[in-house]
Amino acid sequence: MSKYIFVTGGVVSSLGKGIISASIGKLLQTRGYKITIQKFDPYINIDPGTLNPYEHGECYVTADGMETDLDLGHYERFTGIQTTRYNSQTTGRIYQAVIDKERRGDYLGHTIQVVPHITDEIKRRIQQLSLVPKGKTTPPFDFIITEIGGTIGDIESAPFLEAIRQLKWELGKDAVFVHLTYVPYLKAAGELKTKPTQHSVKELQSAGIQPDILILRTERHLDDHLRSKVAGFCNVDLECVIQSEDLPSIYEVPVNMQKQGLDAAILRKMGIPVGETPSLGPWNHFLELRRSAKDIVRIGLVGKYNLQDAYKSISESLSHAATYHHRTIQLTFINSDFSENAEFSDNSDFIHLLQSQDGIVICPGFGHRGIEGKILAAQYAREHNIPCFGICLGMQIMVIEFARNVLNMKDATSHEFVTDSQAKAATNYVIDLMEEQKNISQMGGTMRLGAYDCELVEGSRVASIYGENLIRERHRHRYEFNNAFLKTFEENGMMGSGKNPDADFVEIVEIPKHRWYIGTQFHPEYQSTVLQPHPLFMDFIKTSLTSRTV
Ligand code: GLN
Repeated sequence: MSKYIFVTGGVVSSLGKGIISASIGKLLQTRGYKITIQKFDPYINIDPGTLNPYEHGECYVTADGMETDLDLGHYERFTGIQTTRYNSQTTGRIYQAVIDKERRGDYLGHTIQVVPHITDEIKRRIQQLSLVPKGKTTPPFDFIITEIGGTIGDIESAPFLEAIRQLKWELGKDAVFVHLTYVPYLKAAGELKTKPTQHSVKELQSAGIQPDILILRTERHLDDHLRSKVAGFCNVDLECVIQSEDLPSIYEVPVNMQKQGLDAAILRKMGIPVGETPSLGPWNHFLELRRSAKDIVRIGLVGKYNLQDAYKSISESLSHAATYHHRTIQLTFINSDFSENAEFSDNSDFIHLLQSQDGIVICPGFGHRGIEGKILAAQYAREHNIPCFGICLGMQIMVIEFARNVLNMKDATSHEFVTDSQAKAATNYVIDLMEEQKNISQMGGTMRLGAYDCELVEGSRVASIYGENLIRERHRHRYEFNNAFLKTFEENGMMGSGKNPDADFVEIVEIPKHRWYIGTQFHPEYQSTVLQPHPLFMDFIKTSLTSRTV
């Protein structure tokens, strides 16, 4: 039978529940257990696919094509597991399922209520991960880690708390509660304060949940006296009061948790023999490389969202690759939206920023805001032989720039940037709406999503980077390279070096004569993990470290 670990958070948001959940997964995995991690988000959207990154950070895409919370990216990067649509749930999806059942008549004669109907649906979605697959005798996972989004006390997370309270009642020792809180340091008083934690635990207890393990986020070290005070006030064993101090990197968290016995405490609570503490092996090697890196590699991220979380998977993938090249990544966000940046209006500061990078990434995105800045960046990188990586919209920008400035098609654009009423018959849509997208009117969940095959052209740069000819990468887009122009592009130096074998879509473009100029219609960043950095990011960083020859 699978065992369950529920992770909740209190006091404030952004404490790093996702990192803690991923770290628990990593530590149990290191002990030889099969794990999976899921996230419940309390908002009413069906998925974060239609949310602005300013509201919710990056949207992470699973191999099976679900648009999900960015924490799933942490789960995959830490543990190397592949999550699915069952690993990401929202209040919206749960209500939709219950309302669909009501319309179908599944509950004929009954009043549909939050308890038991919504809570039962939540429980079902937690437990469906432990269903024994057909033809097998054991569930696929030893441990299911469920992260409950939001902060204890929020009105919208109440049904989740009720559902996990009931599950604990049913499962007994096979379920444990881990609660993450914050211990602030008051400078004026020179003291660390535990009261917010006590209140948060009380709130949890009033929902019928007694945390088994408390993890205290803190900027300063907590001594044993303070930990025992928390233990005493919150009915938690002292060895189960663990601190999570600020660390130089999120990847240090599993090591810190293991040192304090978090995984051992979980096992003990469940009555599972603890045994020796296993070595984290290659994970420690990765951390060693990070700690000892003295030099930097400078990468410019050209995009329109000036927010750390908007390009999370890209910045983590770059950081993994830099680590394996003995470097620390120095990321500079370069805003492509000149309208927001008065100082860039004459372009010279923008160009100056581009110039000082070892490599440039043209980021994904939607809509026409910030497009001209991205085109300028692509042109600058192409003309100055600076390694340049275009991802999704970034690849489309590379194509548009090449059409305008090399093929002399001054009106070249993507259909995405031109409304029907503006469209002139003569416009060269080098990027066009996919045929399969033309009759779609709903916005949510309707893009080309998830993993698709891609055949690499023999002798191309990407084929040598991947070291194979058939790859599979994840997508999230509606527009595509327009094949009507492919011949002209190839005759003039930009080749289509990867194609989807079923639809004939160009999925990769590259300029073989350039030091490194590759655009991918897919998002390689969703598949880079700590222990398996992605070959494209590895090669991009490697080339960015070689000296520039213009
Ligand atoms: N907006 C572009 C499209 O829909 C690119 C999407 C992206 O960058 N994820 O095709």
